[in-house]
Amino acid sequence: MSNFKTNCHTHTDYCDGKNTAREMIDSAVEKGFSVLGFSGHSPMNFPNEWAMTHEKLEKYFGEIASLKREYAGKIGILCGIELDSDYELNKEYDFDYVLASVHQIHGKNKIYAIDNTAEELSECVKEEYDSDWNRMAAEYFEKLARFVIKENADVVGHFDLITKFNKNGCLFDENDPEYRENALKWLDYIIDKKPDAVFEVNTGAMYRCGNDTPYPASFILKRIGERGARVTVTSDAHCTQALDFEFVRAKEYCKKCGVNSIWHLTKEGFSEEKL
Ligand SMILES: [Zn+2]
Ligand SMILES: [Zn+2]
Repeated sequence: MSNFKTNCHTHTDYCDGKNTAREMIDSAVEKGFSVLGFSGHSPMNFPNEWAMTHEKLEKYFGEIASLKREYAGKIGILCGIELDSDYELNKEYDFDYVLASVHQIHGKNKIYAIDNTAEELSECVKEEYDSDWNRMAAEYFEKLARFVIKENADVVGHFDLITKFNKNGCLFDENDPEYRENALKWLDYIIDKKPDAVFEVNTGAMYRCGNDTPYPASFILKRIGERGARVTVTSDAHCTQALDFEFVRAKEYCKKCGVNSIWHLTKEGFSEEKL
């Protein structure tokens, strides 16, 4: 199948999204989606304001299952989870897919969010890594790669999330050979161990921070293309307006980086769209 519209990275008000699951689905139908996959933030083992609690996770799983039946024939609904590395997956739930992400760095006495503010991430690098951004990045990429393989995750969430606030290299130099070597080393690690892993081309920070391009950076996406690994375009939507934000540009970006197919998550598994 080609030219169909899907998104497997969707949040709702069960976690830090603004809209209900039903509102997200109605908007997706309106926008011509054929499949919408939900990926609520998994519960965390520390207090926070963005992830689902265990109670909410149960309700989330139940509601998405009933919406799946209700909307059958109109749009395919999938119930996935954005599994955070600070959570043990509860095997009681039979999720359609797992999207694995790392959002925190554990310091000596403090847990830092990677994607909250530039100040928080900068403080982390200063306090925990002697201001060595490459060392922080190396640890981040390793943690993500090992986590993806350990959980056998279907989708790799925002591979270089640590660049979220690094517009024009204002925090660190993404051209630094050491940085690039580390990013590619752990990218290759994932592809070597799990050749069918699907990497997100994620437009979330384009919507929320006005970033020019999706995750990941072009040098990473080029390597994904060279290795013949898979990508999927996602919006990491937290509201209805963001559902298909910059999908056209994201596909052009893929092509420019030598990625010639997009993989769509459907009820039957991943399905290829040639670009
Ligand atoms: Zn995320
Ligand atoms: Zn997300």
